[in-house]
Amino acid sequence: MNCLEIQDVHKAFGGIQALDTCSLSVAQGTITGLIGPNGSGKTTLFNIITGYERADSGQVRFQAQDITNKAPDTIFRLGIGRTFQLTRIFPRLTVLENMHVAVQRTDLRGMFRWWSASHERQRALELLEFVGLHTFKDLPAGNLSFGQRKLLEFAFILIAEPQVILLDEPAGGVNPTMVNYLADRIRTLNQRGVTFLIVEHNMEFVMELCHRVTVMHRGTSIAEGTPAEVRANPGVLQAYLGD
Ligand code: ADP
Repeated sequence: MNCLEIQDVHKAFGGIQALDTCSLSVAQGTITGLIGPNGSGKTTLFNIITGYERADSGQVRFQAQDITNKAPDTIFRLGIGRTFQLTRIFPRLTVLENMHVAVQRTDLRGMFRWWSASHERQRALELLEFVGLHTFKDLPAGNLSFGQRKLLEFAFILIAEPQVILLDEPAGGVNPTMVNYLADRIRTLNQRGVTFLIVEHNMEFVMELCHRVTVMHRGTSIAEGTPAEVRANPGVLQAYLGD
């Protein structure tokens, strides 16, 4: 069963056609990679799925429900979480305080209003433990390395227990040990039923982690398959070399 279905989506910015008859699907329970040369439309697609940009035409469905052009908070509450390329933390607040801020920010329309202070703290600590940052909980978040900041942002999304997580370049600028750790966390969540759609330039990361890979070129999906199938597809190499 498909968890996300994108059908014939178009999106132009002035004269630039960022997405052009773009169709793809993400199967429930998979880790799906979204790759393609710079400017091929990956971020625009993420923004349209999560409501940060409006599609000019076409449809986005989540669990068979039409979510096209719904507001970001509506889409988030339905169960789609995302990270951004740049991390959004408060460097002077401690790691744990950042988690509390994230709970407040996540708590759009009072999803967690029944949470007691101790429950909130416990949940924040559990998530910090899950991403391996609990020993840093009382340090200013500004002391964290770039990779650790990305893990903290990852913990922010997990607060709402999304069914689907969209990750925008999670391994970008992160050292190899941390990349492996992040891959392990993604696999663990996937085994618990979370579906992932991941934009990433680190091919080794994508090819080792993802069950399926979709390749974007000039605003549309040009190939889809297992990592081995995509790697063997001559059109994919051409798309990278041709631009
Ligand atoms: P990718 O994430 O694959 O690098 P993007 O989705 O960022 O690709 O961009 C696709 C195309 O749309 C590019 O040509 C880019 O310059 C253009 N684009 C994206 N966002 C905007 C915007 N807000 N305004 C104008 N052009 C944009």
